[in-house]
Order: sequence, then structure tokens, then C-alpha cells
Amino acid sequence: MENEYQLRVTPQTAYTEEHIKRYLAQEKGLDIRTIHAVRVLRRSIDARHGQIFVNLKVRAYINEDPHDLAYTPTDYREVPEGAPRVLVIGEGPGGLFAALRLIEHGLRPVILERGKDVRARKQDMALITKTQQVDPESNYCFGEGGAGAYSDGKLYTRSKKRGSVEKILNVFCQHGASTAILADAHPHIGTDKLPRVIEGMRETILRCGGEVHFQTKMTRLILEGDTVVGVEAVDLRTGEEKNFRGPVILATGHSARDVYRYLAEAKVEIEAKGIAVGMRLEHPSQLIDQIQYHNKNGRGKYLPAAEYSFVTQVDGRGVYSFCMCPGGFVIPAATGPEQIVVNGMSPSNRGTAWSNSGMVVELRPEDIPGDDALRVMHFQERVEKDCWQQGNRRQTAPAQRMADFVNGKLSYDLPKSSYAPGLISSPLHFWLPKGIAHRLQEGFKVFGRQAHGFLTNEAVCIAVETRTSSPVRILRDRETLMHVRIEGLFPCGEGAGYAGGIVSAGVDGERCADAAELYVKVNK
Ligand SMILES: Cc1cc2nc3c(=O)[nH]c(=O)nc-3n(C[C@H](O)[C@H](O)[C@H](O)COP(=O)(O)OP(=O)(O)OC[C@H]3O[C@@H](n4cnc5c(N)ncnc54)[C@H](O)[C@@H]3O)c2cc1C
Repeated sequence: MENEYQLRVTPQTAYTEEHIKRYLAQEKGLDIRTIHAVRVLRRSIDARHGQIFVNLKVRAYINEDPHDLAYTPTDYREVPEGAPRVLVIGEGPGGLFAALRLIEHGLRPVILERGKDVRARKQDMALITKTQQVDPESNYCFGEGGAGAYSDGKLYTRSKKRGSVEKILNVFCQHGASTAILADAHPHIGTDKLPRVIEGMRETILRCGGEVHFQTKMTRLILEGDTVVGVEAVDLRTGEEKNFRGPVILATGHSARDVYRYLAEAKVEIEAKGIAVGMRLEHPSQLIDQIQYHNKNGRGKYLPAAEYSFVTQVDGRGVYSFCMCPGGFVIPAATGPEQIVVNGMSPSNRGTAWSNSGMVVELRPEDIPGDDALRVMHFQERVEKDCWQQGNRRQTAPAQRMADFVNGKLSYDLPKSSYAPGLISSPLHFWLPKGIAHRLQEGFKVFGRQAHGFLTNEAVCIAVETRTSSPVRILRDRETLMHVRIEGLFPCGEGAGYAGGIVSAGVDGERCADAAELYVKVNK
């Protein structure tokens, strides 16, 4: 027999299956010997008040064992001989989920990825701290798994497409992610676990007859009139130029500036898109735990590192926290020379001594004069270059204590930080663009009033966060998901301006694959 219960319990009771079993026996009058297993179906923490509770929905298996998997697997089969090929450019979440979905349709995905496989790219990321140089083809944004691979792996999304979101989470579980992501209100995988999951997804693609070409960069589309029939690419190991034929799912992410430049030059319809710009704010994680859990002793043994989320309006623009990483690291996320870009990630246990988040200000295309479709990207480039110059032309990031930033004072020293390439004290209030610095200063005052202790010199502002989303939208038809003019081209994921985050990029990847299948069928 299976029984489901809604429980509101202490963090200690919610901590393990054994604790939950004991609670059910006590509170629901069950004989503990008959409870074979307990499966948590939903879990959320209620930390709004002094006493913290965990809300659980659980299924108890009475006198029987669970007879199904904790996730719903997708049946990926080998694609038939001679199956039509669809090119997938970029192996981030958008490209990976597009490729897997093509396999479900019996089509052969051919992935071109400019970066290296998910393990090899790790070495290039480590070199950033060692050499203070960024490899423009292999870094925190480029390589197998895309920008999502060495991230927090936060998987919550504002997307209302529940079915599609569930599918993405289940595919992650099928490839090795913990099934806790199906239950948690704020699921995350963790940067230590993501590479194995991504390798698993690639293995499925290869086993089913797909192709993955690493260090192979698309350089241009091959067009016949207004139809794309393939791409030109370069093998970055040998310099050999190659052509690949097929319709194209273009999932190159928000940092492939060469792709945007090529599209602009080739007069492919694109437009400027709003982004958000600011900094990473890093606090000691214990301080955030104390504030959010209303307890001077912090989170104790049974609670995860605390999260926060702030939002306000200053002078007509949103100021908000973004991509919060409790118990994580601030990382160097630039994709080329003469740039500093920071971002955040955390391991699955969220166990470091620091908690960080992006603190950003909304930037609209109309905030930048002109009508160039690349003007928001050019703005990003300018701010990133300024930051690199302020950082001594290395990856040492300019930084300022939080209260000093708000009060417009240079910091004489800086607190310890998780940012491995190092920090350098700098008056961010002075050189960040005024519309950004001023709004952040005002926003921090609001957040400090909302959460006592948050506005403090124990926290450090680290510049600059610019890669919050795509600065360009590649225009596509709402129904066919095809580019507005070019047949057979499916702009996909974050880089095309239709997703923001791992899950939404995955959902968009699946949708583009569905659209490509229809296109292939009609044009057979
Ligand atoms: C450090 C960091 C942490 C993040 N944390 C989170 C998080 O916790 N949760 C969350 O939801 N989101 C997070 N994000 C955002 C998330 O990673 C992106 O939204 C997501 O990866 C977008 O997926 P995508 O497939 O559209 O693009 P991307 O992931 O950017 O993938 C694009 C791929 O295309 C490749 N490519 C580019 N140009 C070419 C070319 N010319 N030829 C061939 N290949 C090319 C790139 O190498 C890359 O692998 C984070 C991002 C970063 C940088």
C-alpha cells in the first residue's frame, strides 16, 4: 500500500528517510516495521519566522517496496540507418537537450562544439588562476556542457511550462543527477556533480548514433538563397576547414560574440536585447545563515546554506540579486583577452565559507544611444575592458567592501574571498557606469533595511558581472521557431535570446528539435 502525507516538521526530522519514518510511526500511528520506504515528493524550507520548518510531501510504502524508479526515464533508441542529420551548434544545455530530443524523433544530431570535452576544459579553467590568461575557446562559458557545466546547477526556473520542466529534470536524473532535484523547491546539482551528468548525456547521444565534434567552431552558415543547408567550420586542433550539411539549430550561448558579429555582417536579422549589469557580492556564508535563519548560531547541522533574493526599483530600473550561490565560489567567467567578468558557482554540498550572488541593474537597449543591434554587446565589452584595466590587466578583480562602496570610500583592505585569481582594492563607485553604481548603492541601502546585517563591510563587491543574459536576440517566428527569414535555421537557447538558465535553455532546445523535426518531414 502507498500512502501520501503532507508534513510540516523540524529540519532534523526532515533530514533523513529514517527520521521521517520514525516521525510517521509516532504521529500517524503506523507500525515502523511495516514502512518499507519513504520517498520525498516535495520539500521546501519555511524560514520566514524564528522557528524553521520543512514542508514535505512524502509517499510511504507500507508492507511493499517501491516498484518504480524515482524518476521517469525517456526511451532513447538508436536512430535508423540513413536518418536525416540535423546540425546542433553548441553543446550547452540548449544543444544537449536539442540533440537528445532529435534522437527521440529518429533524427541524427551532429553537434559541433568549439570547446573541449567537459573534463579537458577543467584544466583550462584552472590555468586562468595560474597564468592570469583566458583561453578564448575553452573557459567557464565555452566547452562541453556550455556555461551551465561549471555552474551552480541551480535548476529552478520561472517557466510556467511545468511538463517541459519536469522532463528536463527527469532527463538529468536518468543521467546521474540526484532524484532530490525532483522534490526540492530550489533544486540544484552542484558543480562537482554536473560534469558526470553531462558526460552521461553525451554517451547517450553517441550510443544512439549522434555525433559530437569537439574543438570544431562554426564560422559561417552555408546559404542557398534564403535557406540554410549547412555550416562551415574550422577544426581548432588542425586549422582544417570543414563543411557540415543539414538544417541548423544554433545554440551558441550568450558569449559567442564572434557569432553575433558574423550574423550582423551577414545581415541576418537580429536586434539588441536588454541585459543586467553589476557585480558579485560575497558575504561569509555564516553571516547569511544567521540573517536568513534568524539564529546567531547559523544553520546548524540539518539546514542547507541559506539563500536570499532581493529586488527593488531605483530610478525606474530594477535592481536585484541574481544567480545566488550559497556556500559557493566567485569565478572568472571571461571568454577572451582584455576582459574581466565574474560569476558564481557552488558544489553540491554548498559547503564553502562564502555565499555570493550577482547584484545587478536592469539595462534596456534604449539606455544606450544608437540603433546598432550590437550596441548592448559593445557596452558589455567596454565595461569588461575597463574592469580588466582597473584589475591591473590581469584576472585580479577590482573589489570594494560593501559599506565602503555604498559610502563612496576606497577600501584600505579587503576581506578573504573565494575568488581564486585574487582581488585588488578599487573604487567601484567611481568608475562603474553611473547608472549602474548609483542604483546599486541605493539598492544596497534598501536591502540592508530589509535584512538587518546584510549591508556590511564584511561583504565584498567584486566587479564586474555582465553576462547575465544575451545582449542580442536572433529573430525567429513564434510558431515555427525558425529564423524570420532564413529557412532551416533554428536560433535556440540563451544566446538566441529565448532562454535564461539551464532549464529554460533545455526546454528551448527540446522545442527547437521538435520544430526541426517538422521541417525535416515537410522538406523530405
Ligand atoms: C558561472 C556560471 C554559473 C551559472 N549558474 C547557473 C545556475 O546555477 N543555474 C542556471 O539555470 N543557469 C546558470 N548559468 C546560466 C546558464 O549556464 C546558461 O543560461 C545556459 O548554459 C545557457 O545554455 P545554452 O545552451 O543556451 O548556451 P551555453 O550554455 O552558453 O552553450 C553554448 C555553447 O556553444 C558553444 N559555441 C559557441 N560558439 C560556437 C561556435 N561558433 N561553434 C561551435 N560551438 C560554439 C560554446 O562553447 C558553448 O558550449 C550560469 C552561467 C555561468 C557562466
